Amino acid sequence: PNAASTAGARPVRAPRGSELHTLGWGQEGALRMLMNNLDPEVAEHPDKLVVYGGTGKAARDWRSYDAIVRTLQTLKGDETLLVQSGRPVGVMQTHEWAPRVLLANSNLVGDWANWEEFRRLESAGLTMYGQMTAGSWIYIGTQGILQGTYETFAAVAAKRFNGTLEGTITLTAGLGGMGGAQPLAVTMNGGVAICIECDPSRIERRIEHRYCDVRADGIDEALRLATEARDARRPLSVGLLGNAAEIVPQMLAMNAPIDIVTDQTSAHDPLAYLPIGVAFADMAEYARTKPAEFTTAARDAMAKHVEAMVGFQDRGAEVFDYGNSIRGEAKLAGYERAFDFPGFVPAYIRPLFCEGKGPFRWAALSGDAKDIHATDRAVLDLFPENESLHRWIKMAQEKVHFQGLPARICWLGYGERDKAGERFNDMVASGELSAPVVIGRDHLDCGSVASPYRETEAMLDGSDAIADWPLINAMVNVASGASWVSIHHGGGVGIGRSIHAGQVTVADGTKLAGEKIRRVLTNDPGMGVIRHVDAGYDLAADVADERGVRIPMREG
Ligand code: NAD
Repeated sequence: PNAASTAGARPVRAPRGSELHTLGWGQEGALRMLMNNLDPEVAEHPDKLVVYGGTGKAARDWRSYDAIVRTLQTLKGDETLLVQSGRPVGVMQTHEWAPRVLLANSNLVGDWANWEEFRRLESAGLTMYGQMTAGSWIYIGTQGILQGTYETFAAVAAKRFNGTLEGTITLTAGLGGMGGAQPLAVTMNGGVAICIECDPSRIERRIEHRYCDVRADGIDEALRLATEARDARRPLSVGLLGNAAEIVPQMLAMNAPIDIVTDQTSAHDPLAYLPIGVAFADMAEYARTKPAEFTTAARDAMAKHVEAMVGFQDRGAEVFDYGNSIRGEAKLAGYERAFDFPGFVPAYIRPLFCEGKGPFRWAALSGDAKDIHATDRAVLDLFPENESLHRWIKMAQEKVHFQGLPARICWLGYGERDKAGERFNDMVASGELSAPVVIGRDHLDCGSVASPYRETEAMLDGSDAIADWPLINAMVNVASGASWVSIHHGGGVGIGRSIHAGQVTVADGTKLAGEKIRRVLTNDPGMGVIRHVDAGYDLAADVADERGVRIPMREG
């Protein structure tokens, strides 16, 4: 079977409402979220089972998808379905506290963990690329990344521009599933964004969903629109059609007035980055027929792209890698200064991780937007003093177009997520919500990922590549009562570069669910606190002391 095979493809949409199609809400949550990941409103290429992030898939092939659905429909409340890289491989008797689904996606033994071997295994039908939330069934569309991107640009504004991006121009590229959040995150912070994208359909989609304001077909037009808006201190986002590896160097040569530069093309996968001189229309065929030649050409193009980013930094712009490994690829192509600019985590996000903060998210299985609005109110009510949370939720209500099942994300920390989760469960029990909700998170979280080019870049104690933490995280979530738990390799930054884990827990309003939620949503962010205490972060140690997280090496 070919990895990109569309055999058996059909449109998928999760059931809505409070009727079960399975034997319990744990199974039902997994079933609906798998289907929701593949909803054409949610997934980037649903016919190929590709959800986001280059080739991040929800199931290995359509036969596997059918078998997962069939099995979930009959799975009992004391059974667990095992999924190996998108294929259901077994059902085992467990118990009611155990997860209903356990997933391991894309994992390879260290010396074999490279794209070439991965592609070989993938084309032999033996594995799939699970990205972070594609293969673990908790992708909620572009909103998921919008919050993180909004927080990151807010941190850039706080660091360099007096707390607002008003009067600044950000240059970036990539308007895919994740990168598509950039234009809105910049305008939510008051700034102007120019977003280069080589696929015209991606620009159209972001405009249609109101994540991007206008499209420009040439550099001059984009710069004119951007500088006019900047001078009027008016937020504006411009989708610029073209190849970033060509346009970013051209803009540098023109001395374009850019204040902030980053990138979210799918650079983690050299077969998904458009080389210089290749027409977008020829890209897929070229990558398929001459992968080795394409990889070299893509890496050379990334080197040019990164060299121009460093050039902007030399001129004083704020430049950062947005977690797509573009520095690593440029370095492979021989560009020596690739790591001259930092990754976004050490630059802006790590202090949040020390507090166990990260991308908490939930989805309404009812399909009813009213349920999310009720949970929004509950969150605002629970954390009245958290101003940025209030600003985010209000803006999200105004600007976020739900894709698939209505969902919400906000960053909450240790001691907060469990409160929100228990409140949601009570709201299901009381009938305030019309059906259960699922509560999960991205794998990009405080204590669930080892990724030396991203989440664990430049750890204080040099422990960047230690991958015990995500494995302990997954085991803790299994032991605490999560509804499905996943361990993946290669998400975000590509094969060989990360190991990460995820959990999703269903709030069905029962007392048992409440007990599971309290443990999972305490212990899961607790892993972030202990991981950062262990690495020597004082802020994390303070959080542990204040909020009572036990750290044996600090006791006695
Ligand atoms: P995607 O594959 O959906 O989108 C990538 C886009 O880049 C595509 O639309 C493609 O047409 C475009 N592109 C490719 N080469 C280009 C070029 N040379 N010039 C202009 N456009 C080009 O991927 P995505 O889900 O948007 O993810 C983007 C990257 O961000 C991935 O590497 C992903 O791993 C990473 N990522 C970062 C974070 C984060 O928190 N920072 C989170 C998730 C993913």
